[in-house]
Amino acid sequence: MPLVTTKEMFEKAYKGGYAIGAFNVNNMEIVQGITEACAEEKAPVILQVSKGARAYANHNYLVKLVEAAIACNPDLPIALHLDHGPDFETCKSCIDGGFTSVMIDASSKPFEENIEITKRVVEYAHEHGVVVEAELGTLAGVEDDVKVSAEDSSYTRPEEVAEFVEKTGCDSLAIAIGTSHGAYKFKPGTNPQLRFDVLHECEKMIPGFPIVLHGSSSVPQEYLEEIRKYGGQFRTTYGVPVEEIVEAIKYGVRKVNIDTDIRLAMTAAIRKYFVENPEAFDPRAYLKAARAASVEMCKSRYIAFGCEGQASKIKPLPLSEMALLYSEGVLRQKVND
Ligand SMILES: [Zn+2]
Repeated sequence: MPLVTTKEMFEKAYKGGYAIGAFNVNNMEIVQGITEACAEEKAPVILQVSKGARAYANHNYLVKLVEAAIACNPDLPIALHLDHGPDFETCKSCIDGGFTSVMIDASSKPFEENIEITKRVVEYAHEHGVVVEAELGTLAGVEDDVKVSAEDSSYTRPEEVAEFVEKTGCDSLAIAIGTSHGAYKFKPGTNPQLRFDVLHECEKMIPGFPIVLHGSSSVPQEYLEEIRKYGGQFRTTYGVPVEEIVEAIKYGVRKVNIDTDIRLAMTAAIRKYFVENPEAFDPRAYLKAARAASVEMCKSRYIAFGCEGQASKIKPLPLSEMALLYSEGVLRQKVND
């Protein structure tokens, strides 16, 4: 099947009470690792590209790599999503350049301005049958060039979400409930206290509407131990336990973003490979080990999020039909009706 949007993925995920894994892609091995895991688990997937990934690998390379993954896995529903689009122009360039989903992140702007910017992206995206994720509230942490200190982060205000969704027409909403970006999420003794009360309140305001959780890597300690064992350095740090993500999925979370855990799995595998094979110099050898490690990590998340075996149930509409339905107002999310 061609690239799909997340519209039907989220509808099915809502009915089935599970969430779709959204993994960041930066090169061929990562695209292959994620989609190989998906194929084995028969799971729909969102491959997402950040501004940093586009700067590193080039937009065209990333789109062609994802198209290659589709050609190799014709039965898998795969969406190509822009992660943290900073402005209208970046979103437009991804919509024009073959993406099926974009995020506009104007969460650092005042509420009314966030609505204005998001609405503009939504109008352009929907004309092209593309879906839009927006954000309310600000996550702490580091993701590419988005850096937010803990003091500057803020939880989503549940009283704002229904108005925001209604006025912008966005298709999914990222909220801030205490997860954070990057590897250094939580120090010892400050284990995550996700604000499930904020999540519950948000879900009540927009029942049935897909909620997105960013910064949801678990930073598995076994990867950190492996990295240290084979010569790397890592300060003590903790991520969001998988059990807390699973709990959040019970309250409307339909998309879970993972990036750091892939980086850790691949780095641990490469470091191990070099120590055990000091004479190695063929990138195929150590990247193969890294790719295999990413497959195992992704598989474990698919199973935890409950989306394994769901691929065949998704029968997505072509973008042209999506655009038509949006223009007729059929797909617009109705809030509180
Ligand atoms: Zn994010």
